[in-house]
Amino acid sequence: MRNNPKSNKELLSIVVPAFNEQEVLPTFHERLSKVLDSLDVTAEILYVNDGSRDGTLEVMKVLCAHDERASILDLSRNFGKEIAMTAGLDHALGDAVVVIDADLQDPPELIPEMVKRWREGWDVVYAQRIERRGESLLKKLTAHWFYRLMQRVGRVRIPENVGDFRLLSRKALDSLLQLREQSRFMKGLFAWIGFPQIGVPYKRDPRFAGRSTWDYWRLWNFALDGITSFTTTPLKWATYMGLIVAFVSFIYGAVIILQKLLYGNPVKGYPSLMVVVLFLGAIQLIFLGIIGEYLGRMFDETKGRPLYFLNSRYPAAGQPKHSDTRHSPEHT
Ligand code: UDP
Ligand code: MG
Repeated sequence: MRNNPKSNKELLSIVVPAFNEQEVLPTFHERLSKVLDSLDVTAEILYVNDGSRDGTLEVMKVLCAHDERASILDLSRNFGKEIAMTAGLDHALGDAVVVIDADLQDPPELIPEMVKRWREGWDVVYAQRIERRGESLLKKLTAHWFYRLMQRVGRVRIPENVGDFRLLSRKALDSLLQLREQSRFMKGLFAWIGFPQIGVPYKRDPRFAGRSTWDYWRLWNFALDGITSFTTTPLKWATYMGLIVAFVSFIYGAVIILQKLLYGNPVKGYPSLMVVVLFLGAIQLIFLGIIGEYLGRMFDETKGRPLYFLNSRYPAAGQPKHSDTRHSPEHT
């Protein structure tokens, strides 16, 4: 474990991605500060403003002015939580880093326990919900199916009822930062890196203020990202489907030939013809779509664009709050 040269305490970074969170940020900061004060560590708080369209950035600046632990990464536009989080992780200097939502659904009060686990030697300490309060039955059900599906098709086991709220050791973080793919299914990436991982249970509260940016269409796309970035199994289904259909049509063909030999050839079979044509057409379109999902993601990856751009840093870059610059990626 490396130490912050300024003091002999460990440095703990807190990464907070925020998009339109002006109402909740002051309360969040207050609760987080209280927790950090009680901890025997040096702390830095990295607020990532993910292109908010409300006064989030101004609120962050006020918080920074009053708390020298806090600093802001202002992204050039809204990139989505996964990338905002990555931006924060890129700039975190800590011996350990905690990712936490700004909307107080992740209780900051859990951090001391995470730190305790980390000191015991765990590299990834994730918060595991024991209860989903304030969420609809449909959301709970779809989430459950999704985890089941991921466990079956994916090669990594993603713990159920776990969000992004977690602590990473420097070792785990450095590994994670080497994964620069565009479709960032973070839960999967966190699991994929390996290392000793453990969960701490907590109760997830409903959003404190503002509203969730996740509707079902986005959740569906999120699930697609998860599946396509961790398994190519859907592509294989095409092969097996093709084999099955070929086998069935072989039998059906044999039946038709036999019928013709035995009973002659009256003109009939229009319904069966339609069924076969429509069925095959549908199957082919579905698999074209699946191939398209993978192809589109390959297209995104091959462009090799940076994940995000920084509009600015507060306090301005060049006067780092921590004299320690052992981990400051220049590029993203
Ligand atoms: N967030 C973000 N960029 C986005 C959407 C969300 O940085 O484009 C942040 C948001 O401010 C919050 C966290 O990600 O701190 C979780 O977002 P949200 O509460 O909407 O997700 P949910 O809790 O419903 O999963
Ligand atoms: Mg939330």
